[in-house]
Amino acid sequence: MLYLYISLLINKAERIFIFDIDNTLANTWPSLTYNINSRKERLSGLSVFINMRFLIRQIMQDKKNKVIFLTSRNNYDLFVTCNWLRSVGINCSIFDVIIVGNPKTKIRYIKSVVRFYNQQLIYIDDLTYNHERGNMKKYSFVKDIYSLPIQYFGYKFILAINDAKLDRNIKYENIFSIK
Ligand SMILES: [Mg+2]
Repeated sequence: MLYLYISLLINKAERIFIFDIDNTLANTWPSLTYNINSRKERLSGLSVFINMRFLIRQIMQDKKNKVIFLTSRNNYDLFVTCNWLRSVGINCSIFDVIIVGNPKTKIRYIKSVVRFYNQQLIYIDDLTYNHERGNMKKYSFVKDIYSLPIQYFGYKFILAINDAKLDRNIKYENIFSIK
């Protein structure tokens, strides 16, 4: 958190994009149905949604932006998470990956960023669970997000992006309605 604060001051980023990983950038839930030896093996072998990857890479190229990955995993997954991001062509440092113990803590984290950062904050997270049991559910606290002064893009948006035939000339500003 402190690191983020300092890095925002140094970078003078005009916008922060906070991306979830599982089921937003990584096609995670099918992996829960496979027989895989270890958690590490499962997480390092996740397939990537190429459209979301394309957008994130574009966002990162623009110096106005700061991209942070916010994921509900175990703390010890930090390195496997970073290595996976690098393996799919997303160059990030371990300081740009924030791991929280449960999804609800993500909202606390977003609120704390909102408190000290008064510029544009764009948050992309499906905030869903239970896909692997064929009965996808949304976290009840999704509604808390809508009262925050941020742009939130949730499950339907993510699905539409990842399922689309995305024009490679498209600009991320248009996708995220950024002026
Ligand atoms: Mg997710």
